Amino acid sequence: MQDLSVLKQEFAPDLLRTDGEELEKYAKDETPGDYYFLPEAVFLPNNTNEVKQLLSIASKEKIPVVPRGGGTSRCGGSLAVYGGVILSLEKMQEIIDIDEENLILEIQPGVITENINEFLKEYKFFYPPDPASIDSCSIGGNVSTNAGGPRCLKYGLTRNYVYGIEVVFPDGKKEFLGGKMQKNATGYSLMNLLIGSEGTLGVITRIFLKVLPLFPYSATLLVPFKELKDAAQSAFIALSKGFLPSALEFMDEDSVRATMENTDKSIPIEDAGAFLIVEINEYKKEDIEDMFEKLGKVFLEYGASDVFIAEEPYQQDKIWDFRRSISEALDHIGTVIPEDVVVPRANLPEFVGYVKGLEKKYGTRIYTFGHIGDGNIHINIIERDEWNDRGEPLIREILKKATTLGGKISGEHGIGWTKKKFLQYSRTEREINIMKGIKREFDPFNILNPGKIFDMEGNK
Ligand SMILES: Cc1cc2nc3c(=O)[nH]c(=O)nc-3n(C[C@H](O)[C@H](O)[C@H](O)COP(=O)(O)OP(=O)(O)OC[C@H]3O[C@@H](n4cnc5c(N)ncnc54)[C@H](O)[C@@H]3O)c2cc1C
Repeated sequence: MQDLSVLKQEFAPDLLRTDGEELEKYAKDETPGDYYFLPEAVFLPNNTNEVKQLLSIASKEKIPVVPRGGGTSRCGGSLAVYGGVILSLEKMQEIIDIDEENLILEIQPGVITENINEFLKEYKFFYPPDPASIDSCSIGGNVSTNAGGPRCLKYGLTRNYVYGIEVVFPDGKKEFLGGKMQKNATGYSLMNLLIGSEGTLGVITRIFLKVLPLFPYSATLLVPFKELKDAAQSAFIALSKGFLPSALEFMDEDSVRATMENTDKSIPIEDAGAFLIVEINEYKKEDIEDMFEKLGKVFLEYGASDVFIAEEPYQQDKIWDFRRSISEALDHIGTVIPEDVVVPRANLPEFVGYVKGLEKKYGTRIYTFGHIGDGNIHINIIERDEWNDRGEPLIREILKKATTLGGKISGEHGIGWTKKKFLQYSRTEREINIMKGIKREFDPFNILNPGKIFDMEGNK
């Protein structure tokens, strides 16, 4: 229990909430399983100054503060695991400015990611990163986790769109890192250190985002394969032949069936061993047709049983809606253990086959889907009632294989609270010590999102 008396004296009750019902809403995030941590207070700032005030007191009083956006973390990133205060940026939802000359959007961190493109439509711009949680995650959370999504195959990750960030450090002092410049080679990039730091180094309170001209034409292909390995193989073959669709996603048969059975979403064909979903977007209509023809040929040559094309926006939305609903569908089946492994894409056919092969050994179902073009697949293991180790031996086997194939344990979700025991599969002791040194420099009292990514010695 933390002593919050100084905070209670300083802040009005509508800014610092401490009533039980309100706190309950922040005790969980989207990490499946029994991860419930009731915070002692929730702070709901309207502006950067209030964030500064909170942190300057919290650092003096050594009170843990956990930044939170949409609370869609799949690895316990936004949970108050050591109590203290949840700092929810949900009220800071202003789109401040669109600078049409420099193609920069200035935005507060609490804006829900989906609303960015709604806003940009009028200006004929778009912002590509599109995590599957787009309707509930925030841009501040995306920057803090360096979020990915289907379109990151062609357009890059969140990091590639961040030009500048305003940050409040754990001591309550503020800096603006970066700016509106296209380039910046002026010493170490502290901005890039903050991006993907999972709320452990500073609180992001304002962001400059690069936007692109809106592409006028798009189509979505739905490609069924009899064999899962053929789907995986033809994806990387298509890319190695020089085709670059905007998204190249994969769903195994079980994931498709589970989504059909547990949601009101559907796709026109369901009888296949695996599916690819491919989005093409181009500035000329004939380029869409050309890419469809050529890509279709490659898929058919490498084992596709057909290639369907959706050109009408409503048809395309239906397919993408289906893809985005898989996680929700799996939550109806049982407690899911979500893994987010990334390997070099040419090694995916071997990796996916290996993972599915473990179903029998461990007597459970393993659903695989995700960003096959990036080599990043989501592996969703259904936890068995009798397991009291949250499937650790199975997870370790999967991570060992990924490491052997040159992969890492997280492609986009991050490490947070639930994955930190596996960090050593992907980072050496020396690397972890360097990261801890950085954490100490930014946050000497370990008040900001403590217990995430790694443990600090003697200080949680
Ligand atoms: C159904 C589903 C699908 C998903 N699909 C994807 C996907 O395709 N790609 C992907 O990358 N992820 C995906 N995720 C994971 C998740 O949505 C992302 O990690 C997302 O970026 C988190 O954003 P959020 O606003 O919900 O952040 P939260 O969950 O609230 O927080 C995530 C982390 O960021 C920190 N944080 C949040 N805001 C700030 C801030 N302003 N300053 C400093 N730190 C902050 C938190 O402390 C925490 O460590 C998915 C999750 C779900 C539930």
